[in-house]
Amino acid sequence: MFRRRRSVAYFAHDPSHRLLLAPDADDDGEFTCDGCQVVGAGPRYLCDHPGCGFKLHEVCARRFPRSLKSIVHSKHRLKRRESAGGGDGSKCEVCGDDVKSACYGCDAGACASATVVVHPLCVHLPPVARGSAEAHPGGHDSWLVQKASEGGAASTCAACGRGIDGTWRYRCGTCREDVHPRCLVPAADQCRGGEASTVAMAKQCCLSAENDVIGCLNISYYYR
Ligand SMILES: [Zn+2]
Ligand SMILES: [Zn+2]
Ligand SMILES: [Zn+2]
Ligand SMILES: [Zn+2]
Ligand SMILES: [Zn+2]
Ligand SMILES: [Zn+2]
Repeated sequence: MFRRRRSVAYFAHDPSHRLLLAPDADDDGEFTCDGCQVVGAGPRYLCDHPGCGFKLHEVCARRFPRSLKSIVHSKHRLKRRESAGGGDGSKCEVCGDDVKSACYGCDAGACASATVVVHPLCVHLPPVARGSAEAHPGGHDSWLVQKASEGGAASTCAACGRGIDGTWRYRCGTCREDVHPRCLVPAADQCRGGEASTVAMAKQCCLSAENDVIGCLNISYYYR
């Protein structure tokens, strides 16, 4: 595990407060990020101002630039926002869940009127992921793809059986099945480790003779 002690400020928090990687960053317990209001786990940043208690996903503390390009919205740069705007009920373009706080939005072209918003975690979803055995038995790689143009049969999630309302889904080319992004890569699992540590964990696990293949598949995702 790499240790980064440098403190950070968060754009939507008191600029005089500094956040530090929690000393118990290996703690696997789940928590709700005070930045984006999405549940996470694993490494987190805590405000060191006495009595403040503000906490953030590592992603929200360290990978939340003012604007970015993401594969989930390749047409335009996405811009950081303190809230979804447009009142309650804004849905993430990628996962279809409510966007309750800090996020990315697009205000270019036709997107401006359509209130395109994306969770800060969802802009970093891996392009290729391998779900847990429950999410996708068989252990195939699935690709993050956008819904085909309007029309066509509505997709149903192979993991939970519910319809896929969001624009994006993971598709297994082998099984020709679609799964909700968050059914394949739960937000808490996505926060649990950075790319590097997830890959390292997978290798370590697969090299150990005690672990069978199914055990390895429980590592929720990996990057290429
Ligand atoms: Zn967050
Ligand atoms: Zn604070
Ligand atoms: Zn989302
Ligand atoms: Zn746009
Ligand atoms: Zn699902
Ligand atoms: Zn498959």
